[in-house]
This record gives sequence, C-alpha cells and structure tokens, in this order.
Amino acid sequence: MPHPVKKAAIVGWPAKHSLSPRLHGFWLHACGIDGGYEAMPTPPENLADLLRDLHIKGFCGVNLTIPHKQAACAIMDSLDETARDIGAVNLVVVGADGSLQGRNTDAYGFTQNLLLSGYVPKNGAALVLGAGGAARAIIYALMKMGLSEIRIANRTIAHAEKLAQDFATPQCRITPVAWQDAEKAQMGIELLVNTTSLGMKGQPELLLSLDALPPTATVNDIIYAPLETPLLAQARARGFAAIDGLGMLLHQARPSFQAFFGHDPEVTQALRDYVLGNTQ
Ligand code: NAP
Repeated sequence: MPHPVKKAAIVGWPAKHSLSPRLHGFWLHACGIDGGYEAMPTPPENLADLLRDLHIKGFCGVNLTIPHKQAACAIMDSLDETARDIGAVNLVVVGADGSLQGRNTDAYGFTQNLLLSGYVPKNGAALVLGAGGAARAIIYALMKMGLSEIRIANRTIAHAEKLAQDFATPQCRITPVAWQDAEKAQMGIELLVNTTSLGMKGQPELLLSLDALPPTATVNDIIYAPLETPLLAQARARGFAAIDGLGMLLHQARPSFQAFFGHDPEVTQALRDYVLGNTQ
C-alpha cells in the first residue's frame, strides 16, 4: 500500500503572505520528499476547531504565526518545556492518536541565527525593543545564552512589566524601560534586538539614534521584510555588527521540518536566495 503523503501548513490570520510554504517547499524538493506544505488563513475564532480536525484531514502538524501563538497553548493536549516556559506555541505536532503537542522553535531559530552570524554572548546586558509575542521567545533565548541583564523597552510599558514579571529569575535582571528612554538604555549593552513591528514593510519606521550604543555592540532586527531595515542600515553605516531577521525564520523552521517530514534540512545560501525570490 502506498504511504500517505505527509501534509503540514502555516496557520495565521492573515497567512497568505507567509514565506513558510516557499521555505518548506524548497526543502521538500531538495530532500526528495513527497509531501505538502500550504498556507491556511484562519481567524482566531476558528483556531481550536481547525487544530482539532488536523488528524482527520491527514495533517502531521502545523506552524502557527500571528495572532495564534499564545492562544494555542490552551488548546494543546501537551506542551514541551520550551513552549511552556515561553508561553507560546509555533509548532503543533499531531500524534498518531490525533493528540496535539505544542512546541516552540522561535528561541532556537533566534539563537542559531545570532551565533552563526558571529555574535558571541559575553554575559552582559541586552536591550530588547518590543514586548509582544516574539519578544517572549527572545527573552527566553537571551536568558539561556547567559546574559545577565535584559532591558525591555516598549511603547506600552505595562506589556514590558508583564514580561519582566513572567521571566523573573535570580540569574538575570530584567528591567522594563519606558519607550522614550530606549536610547539611554543602550548604554553598556552588548546586544540590541528589535522585536517591534516598526520598520516592517507597511509600518512606520523605527526612529532610534544609536549614539549611546557601545562600538562593540551587535544589532539584530528580527524583521525580514525588508531584509535591510532602516535600523540595520544605520547600524552598518556606523560600523556595528548587524544581523538581519531572515536567519531566525529559516532556523526556526528546521526543527519543524524534522518533526513533520523526518529529515533535518540545511540552512544554506541557496535557501536564502530562493526564499527571497532571487532564484526560481
Ligand atoms: P506583536 O505581538 O504584535 O508585538 C508587536 C510589538 O511591536 C509590541 O511590542 C508593540 O508595542 C510594538 N509596536 C507596534 N507598533 C508600534 C508603534 N507604532 N510604536 C512602537 N511600538 C510598536 O508581534 P510579534 O509577533 O512580537 O512580531 C513582531 C515583529 O517580529 C513582526 O514584524 C514579525 O514579522 C517579526 N517576527 C519575525 C520572526 C522571524 O523569524 N524573523 C519571528 C516572529 C516575529 P505595544 O506592546 O505597545 O503594542
């Protein structure tokens, strides 16, 4: 009897501009796997029903994106340790009995991107701009990398305070910072990460001077559309190490592909070029 084709998807609202089908499609082709990966636009009110029906519809799993990552936690039958600690799910694995396991690979993707781009953690301080869903995974990752202090600057200070409370631990000082103090808060840091949507295509620019940033600091913008955000352009022009956000997207997808299709794929320049539309 032929094996059923393995199917996976990206679930978001909206989801049709997601790069994930292109990314997984590249790997399916490269690995010679007879599988499928599609975009499934799903409004929040339909998420639970969609996830519960995945097994009947023959899906081995899905990735989740905005706005579902945090709400999905309550729908899962189980959560792995990382998803539980972060409080968000971006990978749902469907068991043989239809059960749903929530995992989080965003922290892994963020860490891999930084380390493979040359950032060496020095146990110092980081400034994270933003306190939304992505910031949760990034704060978790920075704590695992051994940073001793994380400053969180956010437009809505209460969201930064909530994150500081959720991730409080004696090993790492987490301080909420008022948005207007984001420039001052760069003093003495080794890493600046933008996790806000400012600078993304269609969004306002992130207006931030890097005057107070130490010369040895690294700047990472997790936005990948555009690839070269105004923040990264400013950082490069001033001689800071600058890391774009595409690598995070590619690396977070690796454990998902492994869970869906049983192969550990590679993140290569050819993949980057293909996902960016530079090759057909
Ligand atoms: P989110 O939960 O909606 O959070 C958005 C954040 O941006 C919040 O902190 C919000 O502040 C802030 N913000 C929005 N508009 C602002 C404005 N006009 N001025 C100041 N701050 C503003 O979104 P998310 O899931 O964290 O994603 C954030 C960005 O990261 C998106 O661009 C997304 O594409 C990108 N991302 C990239 C990857 C990757 O793999 N590279 C992965 C995940 C996300 P408030 O709290 O005040 O609303």
